[in-house]
Amino acid sequence: MSEEAGLKLVEGVKYFHISQAVGLKTVKRVIRAVDGVSFSTMPSETVGLVGESGCGKSTVGKILMRLLNPDNGSVWLDDLCLTSLSGEALRKARAKMSMVFQDSTAALNPRQRVADIVVESLVAQRRIKTVADRRAEAVRLMQTVGLPADMIYRYPHELSGGQRQRVCIARAVSGEPSYIVLDEPTSALDVSVRGQIISLLRDLQNERGFGYLLISHDISLVKHICKSVMVMYAGRVVESGDVVDVLSNPRHPYTQILLKSVLTTQSTGIQLAQSVKGELGNALEEMAGCRFRFRCPYAREICSSTTPELAVHSGGNQNVACHFSDSLS
Ligand code: SF4
Repeated sequence: MSEEAGLKLVEGVKYFHISQAVGLKTVKRVIRAVDGVSFSTMPSETVGLVGESGCGKSTVGKILMRLLNPDNGSVWLDDLCLTSLSGEALRKARAKMSMVFQDSTAALNPRQRVADIVVESLVAQRRIKTVADRRAEAVRLMQTVGLPADMIYRYPHELSGGQRQRVCIARAVSGEPSYIVLDEPTSALDVSVRGQIISLLRDLQNERGFGYLLISHDISLVKHICKSVMVMYAGRVVESGDVVDVLSNPRHPYTQILLKSVLTTQSTGIQLAQSVKGELGNALEEMAGCRFRFRCPYAREICSSTTPELAVHSGGNQNVACHFSDSLS
C-alpha cells in the first residue's frame, strides 16, 4: 500500500523468456530486463533514468504505462494500485498518464491527419463528440505546442522531425495527464531543434505541473532538467539520488565509467569507453552477484556470489549498489 502522491514503481520485475538456436539445438534463455526496480516521481518533478541501450530503461517506462505487465512488483498512481486494475478502471486511470516516444515517425499513424491524431484519446474517452469540437480542440493543442493551426490538416510525412515530435507532445498532453514518460524525446532530432523541444517540455511542466520520468542517454540533458536521477545497469538500479550529487560525485564504478564515456555518446545511445571489456547482454541473464562484475575494474570474489543492495552511501546523499563503494570513492 502506498499513500503518498506520485507515480511509483515498487520492486518492479520483468523477465523475457526467449528461445535461441545454437547450432542444432534450441537454447532457452531468461533475460532479466527489469529486476527489482523502485522509484517515484511527484507532480512538477522530473526524474531521470540513464544507462546504456538495452539496460532496461524503456521497459521500466512501458511497465509504468501498463503497456507491459510486470511479472512482480506494483505500479501506483497516488493511492491507486494500477497493477490490480483492468478493463474500464485501468483505462480511466491510464488517462492520467501518457508517453512520448523517441521515434515520432513510428509513433504516429501515417494514415491519420494531425487533427485526428491529437484528439484521438479524447474521442476514445468520449470527452469530445462533434466535428466542430474536434477541430477546435485540435487547434487549441496546436497552439499549446507552438504549431500553426492549419497544420491540423497535414499528415505526419508532411512534417519535419521537430514538428512531428511537437504533435506527439500535443497528443500526450491532450487528456491533461498528471505524469508523462519521456522516452528519449530529443535523441532523434537535430541539435538545433532539441533545445526548442526541451524548452517546450519545461514550459508545459511549469504551467501544468506534470511529473516527468525522463529516459535518456543524454547526461547533459538529465543534468539540465532533472531533480533526481537513477542509473541503471543490466536491469537494476546501481546508483540513485539528487542529480547534482550523482553526476558531480558518482560513487558506483559503473556511473563513474558512464560519465567518463559521455564524450563518446552518439545519437543512438551511450558507448562505453573501449577500455571497459565485456557486454551488457550477458549480465542480463545473471541471477546472483553484481551484474557489473564482468566489466568492473574493482571486482573481487564476493561480487560473483552476493548481489549488492542499493543502500545509502556513507559519504553522500545518494544510494549505491556496490560492496566496496565506501572504500573506492
Ligand atoms: Fe564492482 Fe564489485 Fe562494486 Fe560490482 S560490487 S561494482 S563488481 S566492486
